[in-house]
Amino acid sequence: MHTDLVAALDIGGTKIAGALVDGRGRILVRAQRPTPAEEDGDTVMREVKAVLAELTASPLWENAGAVGIGSAGPVDASAGTVSPVNVPGWRDYPLVAGVRAATGGLPVELIGDGVAITAAEHWQGAARGHDNALCMVVSTGVGGGLVLGGRLHPGPTGNAGHIGHISVDLDGDPCPCGSRGCVERIASGPNIARRALENGWRPGPDGDTSAAAVAAAARAGDPVAVASFARAARALAAGIAATATLVEIDIAVVGGGVGKAGEVLFAPLRQALAEYATLSFVQRLVVTPAQMGTDAGLVGAAAAALAKRKAPAAAGV
Ligand SMILES: [Zn+2]
Repeated sequence: MHTDLVAALDIGGTKIAGALVDGRGRILVRAQRPTPAEEDGDTVMREVKAVLAELTASPLWENAGAVGIGSAGPVDASAGTVSPVNVPGWRDYPLVAGVRAATGGLPVELIGDGVAITAAEHWQGAARGHDNALCMVVSTGVGGGLVLGGRLHPGPTGNAGHIGHISVDLDGDPCPCGSRGCVERIASGPNIARRALENGWRPGPDGDTSAAAVAAAARAGDPVAVASFARAARALAAGIAATATLVEIDIAVVGGGVGKAGEVLFAPLRQALAEYATLSFVQRLVVTPAQMGTDAGLVGAAAAALAKRKAPAAAGV
């Protein structure tokens, strides 16, 4: 008998995943649909409702006490709306109201996807046992979230810890967000690949120009590929060091596709961090790869919902 089940949604530009998750973070029921990202907002919402319909059809549904949503951002948790950059049909879209209506009025907790992954790493992954942590997702974009004082810190709108869009290069390249020199503009997978190509790296016979291919070239010693990862590592290190200096985190967890590059990324990252994180209270800062897999978004959304269910007056994980 499960009495502490929650429903979780992980909504991104390519898929809408849903699950029923128990109080230990085990996924008991799953549902998934592709995101019709180019369609209008209500069409996207229909797919969310289809995922929820599969979950509510489960006999376990009657034990579900809350819904957690981790969504591509920006999100606005205070308004219950989302405006994911890669889902143009959703701008200030009332996702929370729609999910609440589709689930018979269950309480709904909305957080950004970076915050959700942070909740998952803190609950079950690399940040477990750490009261002050920054978790990052470095892939097509760069996102993140914070655990402060032992609790998830989503901030008023659910976006706190969005390290990809802090500037680490004052006069750097314009970023699609409107700022310039952002961490994401230097360290995301597409930017690692772009910089390598601009500086003369060429893909192998398979024509693969992804950051993973650049990582493979770097491991084989290609100096341009090595340099592109080193530049990304410096941007990440500057952002991590700034965060640590501001709020005294003791661990930074780096996940996402680029985070899987291994020592090609982590060796220069540790070296650069020693250069940027210099004050006594940040010198012991550890940087480590993420441990959670592709279910991190669902597990983190569940963690947020469980926290809401247990302590409705004090949201936190
Ligand atoms: Zn930016």
